[in-house]
Amino acid sequence: MDERARIPVSLPRDDPTRSYWQDLPDAAVADLRTTETLPESADVVIVGSGITGAAAAWGLQQNEDQTGRSIVMLEARQACSGATGRNGGHTKAASYRTFAHHVSTLGSTAAAAQIARLELANIREVHGFARLHGIDCDAVACDTVDIIYDAAQWEAAVAAVAAMHAALGPYDPAAEYELVAGPDAVRARFHCHATTFRGRPDPVAGAVVYPAGSLSAYKFGVGVLRLCLARGLNLQTHTPALALRREKGRDGAWLVQTPRGTIAARRVVLATNGYTAHLVPRLQGVVVPLRGQVTAQRPGRSLPAGGCLPTTYSFIYEGGYEYMVPRPPGSRFAGDIVMGGGLVRGAADEGLYEYGSTDDTALNPDVSAYLRDTTPRYFGPDWGEDDPAGRVRAEWTGIMGFTPDGFPLVGEMPHGGADDDGGGLWTASAFQGHGMVLCWMCARALVDMIEGRDANNELDSWFPRAFRITEERLAKRFQGRVSHNISGQDQGVSTE
Ligand SMILES: Cc1cc2nc3c(=O)[nH]c(=O)nc-3n(C[C@H](O)[C@H](O)[C@H](O)COP(=O)(O)OP(=O)(O)OC[C@H]3O[C@@H](n4cnc5c(N)ncnc54)[C@H](O)[C@@H]3O)c2cc1C
Repeated sequence: MDERARIPVSLPRDDPTRSYWQDLPDAAVADLRTTETLPESADVVIVGSGITGAAAAWGLQQNEDQTGRSIVMLEARQACSGATGRNGGHTKAASYRTFAHHVSTLGSTAAAAQIARLELANIREVHGFARLHGIDCDAVACDTVDIIYDAAQWEAAVAAVAAMHAALGPYDPAAEYELVAGPDAVRARFHCHATTFRGRPDPVAGAVVYPAGSLSAYKFGVGVLRLCLARGLNLQTHTPALALRREKGRDGAWLVQTPRGTIAARRVVLATNGYTAHLVPRLQGVVVPLRGQVTAQRPGRSLPAGGCLPTTYSFIYEGGYEYMVPRPPGSRFAGDIVMGGGLVRGAADEGLYEYGSTDDTALNPDVSAYLRDTTPRYFGPDWGEDDPAGRVRAEWTGIMGFTPDGFPLVGEMPHGGADDDGGGLWTASAFQGHGMVLCWMCARALVDMIEGRDANNELDSWFPRAFRITEERLAKRFQGRVSHNISGQDQGVSTE
């Protein structure tokens, strides 16, 4: 694992696999350059046009004292073509699965509860923002179900839900979980059956049901960008930031070098997730890319409601899991099953070789084969015959960002050394494959920090300390082997 973390992080690659969501890319925004030439300077340069960059731009535009503030966004490829344009679209916080781990690593039930509340708030804010601003992104607020195939995982789930009820109270929305015990009840409600994997039985132990949702993160991200563009954002697609340096004698301005010229700004926001270490060598081994893979499958003929199932799903087994989003009624390809994951059981060495990879131009054929077979395996006779046009409509890869301690990295990069006294380099990155429940609120916290609204740690009332950048966190490194069993994130991986 430590070797994978040492692979130098590249820029986003040209010609990535075509994601389902970006087919077709947004005609107005995907290749937009607001101005023909790159401005020479801006008040703020944001690097990255995914959900985090878009949310940061929106937040910075809300400051009424700064209505003339110029914000330039640099994007290496098409707008929103990183993880946000290539994910599973699952707005699901499996907070109960990380709660005990957070209590023990943070040494505080209150800190763990704060993370659970932030995750739920993030989902609600994203769906609420889409509703409020009329962003057409197929957003659905619905329940999700975790189908649990492993007796030990089921016991852990029951204990975790009890611990959350005890800590938060049974009526706290962040602890709203229903337990469904036994295979018969699970089959009757969710159409999932006992299965086998490589000859080993996977009996259904139970299910956990809780509020969640789904959306096209691509359409959401582009929708937020459109709002920002209407307020004066200057978006420059196909313009990678190649390097950063601080200009001497120019009041601490950062110089962002691109193939189209250099742009100066006193504040630079890196919304570059898994790619951040390319621009900040200090983050090599601290923010480590991980390639994930997703398929969109035409629904099997026996799947209820033509595939438009009323809940989203995760399938949890010892060491890992898959996650699944049925495309809602009224959306393009309604009933399609979006299935992601497969790292632990599908990829060689439990996904080790996907760490350190920024290659979203290719698929992992082992993961393709594995994901393709998950649907009939989990749904058994309720899947039925495949659609005559073929099971897999699309498959693609994307790049996530992970930190050794499993928390996002939010705030200003430390400064004050001999050659660097200016500050002004900010990031919100490393969302652990879980950005649909973290990015929005992390970007909000980042904007508050940039705007000076955190001078007395005001954000502590809702923003986890564990997410802030500290020297101590920057000194941590990935070590040893990959372990896949503690995380609740959508890729079901973590490190030890
Ligand atoms: C396959 C996959 C499935 C996932 N499924 C889910 C899910 O179902 N639910 C969930 O919660 N999360 C999921 N995630 C995670 C989620 O998508 C991310 O956490 C989230 O989108 C991160 O958003 P972001 O804006 O921070 O980063 P990104 O969306 O990756 O945006 C970063 C942008 O920065 C650009 N960039 C990087 N470096 C430079 C540079 N030097 N110059 C210019 N531009 C640059 C990139 O091109 C990219 O567009 C998934 C991720 C992947 C890859």
